[in-house]
Amino acid sequence: MSDCLFCQIVAGQIPAKVVAESDDSLAFYDIAPQAPVHVLVVPKAHFMSVNEVTVKHPGVFDDLMRLAQKVAEIEGVKDSGYRLVFNVGRDGQQTVSHMHAHVLGGRLMTWPPG
Ligand code: 5GP
Ligand code: ZN
Repeated sequence: MSDCLFCQIVAGQIPAKVVAESDDSLAFYDIAPQAPVHVLVVPKAHFMSVNEVTVKHPGVFDDLMRLAQKVAEIEGVKDSGYRLVFNVGRDGQQTVSHMHAHVLGGRLMTWPPG
């Protein structure tokens, strides 16, 4: 998907601060962090949202979640806790149509923040 922002980040065509990488997923810092730790974890393959991942794509969720675990460890929030969020579609307020998990931590996850 040449016009997809996160595909372009995966391809190295748009810069991002990479935190960690696995065979099938990439983790990089969110450009507008909502918490002291705010990392996005994306599959390297293009899926518009969680809805597009089916039994025909074994390992996609597994690989992504394992990388999210690793991010939590690297960022030092594994034990203090963190929020793992997938926004899906319109009502989920997903703004980038390439599936991604938000790893949010480093503060108490009250809403609204503060
Ligand atoms: P969504 O709202 O779709 O769940 O999350 C999209 C996230 O992507 C937002 O938190 C937004 O700040 C982040 N984002 C948007 N554009 C860029 C970008 O060019 N680089 C990075 N690193 N993050 C981005
Ligand atoms: Zn994409």
